[in-house]
Amino acid sequence: MNFTKKIVLVTGASKGIGMEISTSFMKKGAVVIGTSRSKKGVEIINDFLQGNGKGYILDVTRLNSICKIVSEVKNEFGEIDILINNAGIIIDNLLVKMVKKHWDKVIKTNLTSVFMLSKAVVKPMIRKRYGRIISISSVSGISGNIGQTNYSSSKAGIIAFSKSLAREISSKGVTVNVVSPGFIETNMIKKFTKKQRKIIESQIPIGRFGYPKEVAEVVLFLASEKSSYITGETINVNGGIYMI
Ligand code: NAP
Repeated sequence: MNFTKKIVLVTGASKGIGMEISTSFMKKGAVVIGTSRSKKGVEIINDFLQGNGKGYILDVTRLNSICKIVSEVKNEFGEIDILINNAGIIIDNLLVKMVKKHWDKVIKTNLTSVFMLSKAVVKPMIRKRYGRIISISSVSGISGNIGQTNYSSSKAGIIAFSKSLAREISSKGVTVNVVSPGFIETNMIKKFTKKQRKIIESQIPIGRFGYPKEVAEVVLFLASEKSSYITGETINVNGGIYMI
């Protein structure tokens, strides 16, 4: 796979899965635009990109910031070819205890951002007759999960959104796909105790948590020419914990 001259925007690139996706694209020749909410995050991104792109401050819940960054990237690097909607959060609680603020925040960060970012990049992709939009969902969006009515809804929404958008624009050379990870070794799952990890691992046919690299590989495949006839699809990278 070769992404030379391709401009890739990865949201939430400062750590975890987003960082791995960004470095993987960089190693394959892409110009990577990585985002973080903090200055520190942008410094981390610029450090690992080593000039093969740039870090930008972006809170994906802010529409104005999204438009501003897409326009800045266009002026400095050109139109975005590949959008990776990776940024996401969890604020777990049982429904009886969940406050609306936490419902709204998770939906806005995980799902509304996918709508806004896709809208911001899609027109030039259609004009060029080339583009890739890949969003990171979750096994929770397919199986459901206790304490995650907000998160699961946002991640299921990403899948339905991507199928609909794929129907709208795939004939124009823009494919829209989803990668749906299971338990992956990042900060997001640091909360588990050793005992909890053991219980979860016992439910995973492959017998362990996944690594960010194993998610990034699938994202790169979906972004490459090798996947030219795949659109509206969700690929599960979950060690078999949930099989469809
Ligand atoms: P992580 O290490 O916590 O990283 C989350 C990323 O999202 C950070 O880079 C963070 O950026 C960014 N982010 C959060 N809120 C944001 C906002 N409002 N605006 C912009 N960026 C924001 O988690 P991860 O595990 O790598 O998660 C990456 C994606 O994979 C998420 O969508 C997550 O739901 C999904 N996922 C993860 C797992 C797992 O087991 N790890 C499983 C299934 C799905 P800054 O903090 O730098 O601002």
